[in-house]
Amino acid sequence: MKETLLWDERKCRVCGCTDLDCSGCIEKTGEPCYWVEEDLCSACADQIGTPD
Ligand SMILES: [Zn+2]
Ligand SMILES: [Zn+2]
Repeated sequence: MKETLLWDERKCRVCGCTDLDCSGCIEKTGEPCYWVEEDLCSACADQIGTPD
């Protein structure tokens, strides 16, 4: 069985923002984040970087 997250249940593992509450990211980056991983938003991906 594949684990699937519903869109409205997504939550960033770093900053804890969701699609419904992304004000923290907007304060930090000036724009709403998008999802770069299932539980990592673009605002935090910029901070921690992405291993290759
Ligand atoms: Zn985040
Ligand atoms: Zn966000």
